[in-house]
Amino acid sequence: EAIDVAKHFAVANSLGDSSVVRAVEGASIRLEPGRITAVVGESGSGKTTLARILARFYEPTSGVIRLDGVPVAGDGIRKRAVQKAYRKDVQLIFQDPFGSLNPLHRVRHNLERAVRLHHHGRSKAALEERVTSLLERVSLTPASDYVDKFPHELSGGQRQRVVIARALAVEPRVLLGDEPISMLDVSIRLEMLNLLDTLRREDGLALLYITHDIASARYLCDDIVVMYAGQMVEAGPKDAVISSPQHPYTKLLVESSPDPHRDVAADRDEIFGAADELGEPPSLIDPPSGCRFHPRCPFAMEKCTTTPPPRAQLGDGRWADCWLHEEGRADELSGSTMTE
Ligand code: SF4
Repeated sequence: EAIDVAKHFAVANSLGDSSVVRAVEGASIRLEPGRITAVVGESGSGKTTLARILARFYEPTSGVIRLDGVPVAGDGIRKRAVQKAYRKDVQLIFQDPFGSLNPLHRVRHNLERAVRLHHHGRSKAALEERVTSLLERVSLTPASDYVDKFPHELSGGQRQRVVIARALAVEPRVLLGDEPISMLDVSIRLEMLNLLDTLRREDGLALLYITHDIASARYLCDDIVVMYAGQMVEAGPKDAVISSPQHPYTKLLVESSPDPHRDVAADRDEIFGAADELGEPPSLIDPPSGCRFHPRCPFAMEKCTTTPPPRAQLGDGRWADCWLHEEGRADELSGSTMTE
């Protein structure tokens, strides 16, 4: 669980002047066992930074991260034992499966290393058995066909399965997938989503699925959180969010999404083609005042340019940060904003 987490980075330009990139601000999210939550947004929305904060790769600038109610980051927490346990419980899967594996080592070695980190002093036979069961868990069967291969001898999908097997080696409770299918062949994306779905159903894992692709989020997830320019702007159960978006940015994403029959084949340009017509995402060094979406928003009004919108609680776990709700104009979100 992350509560009101922010991450700011100091950057220097070529003249030596420094600025602050506000990559994530005011982000709160709660992951539950057996549930998949998608964080959806285009590049620069802060979703990858959020995943890295949750994985404890980045220390949040402010806010708190808790596991089972116990704080593990924020407020000067430095207890090594707590952090070590957290790193085992929460595993991050990266976008690029090739970069995630040691190319000089065979699959066996890549997996054994992870198993040893969790279970010291295993016999050779026990290690072998564990590696075999991990490969079977991710449907790389028979395991003997894969265990002695080097990463470059595997396809992208097979490599990502090995990466997932390695994450499972430490018996985590939470998997954070940062665009885990976006670098894979379109033909195998669906298989990977189905594998993630199996892991949450059969192992009760809590899963965070970071994606730019609202179509795959629709296929896989229970809940959706939409991020824009470093902030969460809408959240709720996926069917409700997708069938009746309550924030103009979500509406744009949904309307830009390709035909559901091509869901998993969608790529970024298809998803964001229409959104890009409305302009580029804003700079996170000097984000727009008021509502950060106002320069691209077809519904923007005067106050949107000066004052951040309040959070509208919409029932059934839904909320949206948009002035349209306060102004009684939310019904305008049910019409189309797309031009022919
Ligand atoms: Fe658009 Fe205003 Fe809502 Fe922001 S607050 S999304 S600018 S209507």
